[in-house]
Amino acid sequence: MVKRVPVTRYAMEPKSMGSAGMWQFQLYIVAPGDPEALSVSLLDDLLRLTSCRTCGRTASSLDGHAQCLSQEGVHALQMPWSVHLAMSRRMWKENVRIRQKKRAIAERAASDPFTAAHVRPLLEAQGGLCYYCGDPLATPGISALVHRDHMTPLVKGGTHDVDNIVLACRTCNLDKNGFETAPVFCRRVARRLAADQLERARTIRAAVRRWKATRAKERSRSSRRP
Ligand SMILES: [Zn+2]
Ligand SMILES: [Zn+2]
Repeated sequence: MVKRVPVTRYAMEPKSMGSAGMWQFQLYIVAPGDPEALSVSLLDDLLRLTSCRTCGRTASSLDGHAQCLSQEGVHALQMPWSVHLAMSRRMWKENVRIRQKKRAIAERAASDPFTAAHVRPLLEAQGGLCYYCGDPLATPGISALVHRDHMTPLVKGGTHDVDNIVLACRTCNLDKNGFETAPVFCRRVARRLAADQLERARTIRAAVRRWKATRAKERSRSSRRP
């Protein structure tokens, strides 16, 4: 069992390729016990192999770099691209571990968790069509072939509540990246849809909103009942 560092994690910058073949990333301070905390062994190696982007010194520990931190407590670091390639598999595995942990936490936190029983009514509300593109989904009832999509991804703080889940076709589910929210993805999907498809997709989304609103109303009514 790897011991976890209580306060630090790394996150990749959007533009990860810096000047002169350096791979750039940042360390953020997170609260003790945060699922995003890096494992000790990976953090040690990252610090050993990187240099501070502000002062240029090898980072080795964050202690000597208090003045290099941004106001948000972010420490920018870089490592040669070749070193990054050697480390990338470990960092990728760490990211997978962090995502799984966050997913488990989000699922536990749901107050109205989405279950298999919700698939059929939601599928009916969507008219058996994909929430995003309006293409036909699997035969109603074959829930295993329908992709459940978190409108706000779990890694972005979304939950596993009914409110946050819609049914999508395989194409859309694979196309929507892990950090994209539903409104952002809808705008992107709109570009590949013909006018009539777009109209149909909008109708489906309105129907889903109505279904969820009706459901929420019924739930609050039954919870108020003694
Ligand atoms: Zn520094
Ligand atoms: Zn679709």
